[in-house]
Amino acid sequence: MTHPHTQTYWLEHAWLGSFVEPGVAVEVVDGRITAVRTGLGSPPPGTEILRGLTLPGLANAHSHAFHRALRGTVQVGSGTFWTWREVMYATADRLTPDTYHALARAVYAEMALAGITAVGEFHYVHHAPGGAPYADPNAMGEALIDAAAEAGIRITLLDTAYLSSGFGQPPDTHQLRFSDGSADAWAERCSVLKDRDHLRIGAAIHSVRAVPARQLATVARWAEERRAPLHVHLSEQTAENDACRAAHGCTPTRLLADHGVLGPRTTGVHNTHLTDEDIALLGDSTTGTCMCPTTERDLADGIGPAAALQKAGSPLSLGSDSHAVIDLLEEARAMELDERLRTRTRGHWTAAALLRAASADGHAALGWDDAGTIETGALADLTTIALDSVRTAGPLPRLGAETAVFAASAADVRHTIVGGRHVVRDGAHTLVPDVPQALAQAVEALRA
Ligand SMILES: [Zn+2]
Repeated sequence: MTHPHTQTYWLEHAWLGSFVEPGVAVEVVDGRITAVRTGLGSPPPGTEILRGLTLPGLANAHSHAFHRALRGTVQVGSGTFWTWREVMYATADRLTPDTYHALARAVYAEMALAGITAVGEFHYVHHAPGGAPYADPNAMGEALIDAAAEAGIRITLLDTAYLSSGFGQPPDTHQLRFSDGSADAWAERCSVLKDRDHLRIGAAIHSVRAVPARQLATVARWAEERRAPLHVHLSEQTAENDACRAAHGCTPTRLLADHGVLGPRTTGVHNTHLTDEDIALLGDSTTGTCMCPTTERDLADGIGPAAALQKAGSPLSLGSDSHAVIDLLEEARAMELDERLRTRTRGHWTAAALLRAASADGHAALGWDDAGTIETGALADLTTIALDSVRTAGPLPRLGAETAVFAASAADVRHTIVGGRHVVRDGAHTLVPDVPQALAQAVEALRA
């Protein structure tokens, strides 16, 4: 019989969901928090000390790992989302299970260094170029799953149905490798995938452009039967809204509602260009909203109505999406600051509300209901932010949440702990020795 592995951390300051508490001991047994004791002025003997402000692990609810290869490259010249997409497709054409594994391992290691303990990978590059399945039809998904394990973070693989190029249009040349041919074939392929310790299997509908209306219910039912998360890119572009109205006479949100896609386990990603009726449909069904502010501003998408959506009943999560930068603190800050610019008033969300989107609500959107909080019973996933860096020194520790959200960056992440294990210690990854080099090599391998 093996003894359970017990470890106690002493958190110099801990954010416990709505306020900062000094001197908190967190006991962890086999990767789960078994006790949280507050009011400890000094660390009890035998505890591991985490200096700074410890938050629950951060959840990056929307990722396309391969977009990391575009960083910098896509900042030359002008254009729109649609011209950016051409460059993105050229990179997607070059991915293989091996090159994608190497890139994703490095990208997920970058996420760990940024304090991210769980990622939602919106995965649609399923097959070989041209569309022929690999010997293992889930070879690309398995490459991502292995990459997350090697980088030490949790992953929700949001296996994505991508069947058409536009309303009534077959996939174009680039998109052939994304398509399973039908939603039934998509369901058959992903039914082979099962949850593991670090893995949740979820579903995604790429968009109303990419899954014909009559097949939407197949994907929704698959997710419903498994009680799995279901994500969908929704109204990121006005062109998508226009094409949906032309094809179906309604908005994308209404189309999803009419085909049983909305609900508490569903998350709309972006939700940028919505009508008042769309906002009510999403809120009344408690469909979540994943905002990706650094990508939305990078791609000149527009500012989504996040505050109105939350007020209507839609829980908010955050994602780095195209990985223009990987910094969940920046995503949280950007959501509030975008709203300030639009409304010319301040304080739409408290720092605590923004951190909840980046932690508990992000995890819930990815099917990790037992992560994202520092409390007994939760998975022991923690992120410690330095409060003594050049960016964060000065404010009172009780303003740690405000300091972290509005002044810190990913560079201030000192420790990342997943399941009670240090994945990042003192700013260094414990499993991937040289993350910048791993990124450079993986991106070089994909260069034209
Ligand atoms: Zn996306």
